[in-house]
Amino acid sequence: MNSEILHARLKENFGFEKFRPNQENIINTILSGQDTLAIMPTGGGKSICFQLPALILPGITIVISPLIALMKDQVDSLKTNGISACYINSSQSAEEQQFYIDNLKSNNFKLVYIAPESLSYLDVVFNELTISLIAIDEAHCISSWGHDFRPAYTNLGYLKNRFPSTPILALTATADKATRTDITKQLNLKNSKSFIASFDRKNLSLEVRPALDRVKQIIDFVANKPNESGIIYCLSRKTTEELAEKLKKNGITAKAYHAGLDNKIRAKTQDEFINDDCQVICATIAFGMGIDKSNVRWVIHYNLPKNIEGYYQEIGRAGRDGLPAETVLFESYADVIQLQKFASEGLNSDVQLAKLERMKQYADALSCRRKILLSYFGELVTEDCGNCDICKNPPTFFDGTILAQKALSAITRLKESEPLAVIIDFLRGSKNAYIYEKKYQELKTYGIGADISWYDWNQYLIQLINLGYCEIAFHQHHRILLTTFAKKVLFEGEKVKLTTVVKKVVDKKEIKETKIKPAANSLFETLRKLRYEISKEDDVPAYVIFSDAALRQMETIRPMSEEEFLAIDGVGKAKLEKYGAEFINAIIAFQKNKKTNTKTKKESTYKATLELFQNGVSVEEIAEKRNLSLSTVISHLAKLYLDGVDIDAGQFVSDEEVSLLGKAQIDLENPNALKPYFDYFEEKMGYEKIRFGLAVLERNKQ
Ligand code: ADP
Ligand code: ZN
Repeated sequence: MNSEILHARLKENFGFEKFRPNQENIINTILSGQDTLAIMPTGGGKSICFQLPALILPGITIVISPLIALMKDQVDSLKTNGISACYINSSQSAEEQQFYIDNLKSNNFKLVYIAPESLSYLDVVFNELTISLIAIDEAHCISSWGHDFRPAYTNLGYLKNRFPSTPILALTATADKATRTDITKQLNLKNSKSFIASFDRKNLSLEVRPALDRVKQIIDFVANKPNESGIIYCLSRKTTEELAEKLKKNGITAKAYHAGLDNKIRAKTQDEFINDDCQVICATIAFGMGIDKSNVRWVIHYNLPKNIEGYYQEIGRAGRDGLPAETVLFESYADVIQLQKFASEGLNSDVQLAKLERMKQYADALSCRRKILLSYFGELVTEDCGNCDICKNPPTFFDGTILAQKALSAITRLKESEPLAVIIDFLRGSKNAYIYEKKYQELKTYGIGADISWYDWNQYLIQLINLGYCEIAFHQHHRILLTTFAKKVLFEGEKVKLTTVVKKVVDKKEIKETKIKPAANSLFETLRKLRYEISKEDDVPAYVIFSDAALRQMETIRPMSEEEFLAIDGVGKAKLEKYGAEFINAIIAFQKNKKTNTKTKKESTYKATLELFQNGVSVEEIAEKRNLSLSTVISHLAKLYLDGVDIDAGQFVSDEEVSLLGKAQIDLENPNALKPYFDYFEEKMGYEKIRFGLAVLERNKQ
């Protein structure tokens, strides 16, 4: 279809100016009647690919979706855009379902969302409908190769036979090749065309931090982000609860979410998060699948994830609106050990262990992290990304041979029987009970590394493990063993390159109460509040009304007419009608308020200067007391004089100087600035005199 027409529909119905990569091609393929497989990362913009054709095609579009909670949000979102849509699923009563079925039959809806389980029951209804398109969301659920196989999806293969001439669009964020092929096969797609978008999500920053003091690190991180929604992924249910408790104690609204909680509590927590009533969710990976929230501003991994697929999907939940979003992964050796244990005891242990190893390599990387991620998904990139911690803070190498020798010989002295922590205590000459009990203080090399902090030793030892000089015996109390490589360093003069420890961790003594930063008094905050209020009235999630990206644009462009408002990305016809007036009024009010605010601020600073001046304080002293420059103080007084305040102008400028200034004013044709006068008098008349003299001239005219 003509690109102009498609763009016009995109703007009118969804408010967007441009298509994201692949959206237009996918839509055109569907409109030509061809089966299509669309692979896009989370947040890539899959929904538009079937929602826009649904509006153009004559009949109904069926959307198969595995997640009941998501259906409601998608339908709400379509409705705010003025598009008629509904869902039919087990959360509704029989009467409700019948109501929607009747309305479908009378062609009152363009889109209907259905769970795969309901298909067979609805099959008789289909006979009476014109079905133009079938979209299958989360299509990887059909494949047992994928990571999220759902038995109900296996029946979907019948759809192609049942509706041979209706195009099917399969959508997924799973990039795995085997899964892709399997989807097409299982769905019986005919001559389908595939579109694979880049998996690069440039707006997500990537960062890995050592896990020391991570609760404190997280509290600091969140405290600096008032009102910014975020998810913290934890390995265990217990951690989610403990962490949420600690955050709450620090004044952060946080809740735990995991599969062990009652269904009702889980649904409530999820709702509160979606509706911006709860800022932080501490969750196991059970959380997030059913969430479309576009303004998740950050994702933290409290523990190392099991594999890169999971990690990428989880961080992908941040920044779907395309605005910058942050991701932080905490790496700890204890996690690696625990995950290795899980993986080796579970099914398919070789594969799981290998995947975990890749995850660990990512966390330990010394080169651009995004390159590593994308190459894992088969995308080769040549440029470093500039938006990961390694790019922003490249590691520097130094000759760490002596450090390595000290550490490795300490391990030898301790007979390879102690874990990391004891080795560090030994190196640093700690006087703790364990050391004394074992009489380690009597051994040679005790305390030879006292000049290096505990934290740094920890980092260096991890590097030595990663370099293969020593290893952790996971099943033997994590004691550290030397490898054959260690000999090369200890006896054969091999040089060891280590990287400097850049990440500073707050010293325990330094830890003070973390202050929660108050939200800025910005237009964005004003609009965010308005959005929140409207969301409560309309009973839809706030981000469904406008995304953060749209609010940010309003803040920059400050639209004050309907026409200007419509130019905002995300404002279509329906949203202009529904919300335009309220938002425009809020912007106008904010602008006015700002002007009066600066005016009153100015007035009070003049007043303070005047009070001192009237009490006989010299202008120099006023400047010093008020921490202002002399010329600012004079300009205050000049302004006050101009406003009719009784000030002796003769103190600042003589009558003669005033008349010279009057002449200059005519010659210079009354310039706005002071500099032309300064130049006119060849720098012989100071700025204070000029400023005051002009005020005198002005007042004489009044
Ligand atoms: P996915 O299902 O691929 O994770 P969504 O369809 O939920 O992604 O889209 C993610 C976000 O991007 C949504 O907030 C959506 O409104 C927005 N979006 C989609 N297409 C565009 C576009 N062409 N221009 C701007 N924003 C878009
Ligand atoms: Zn990078």
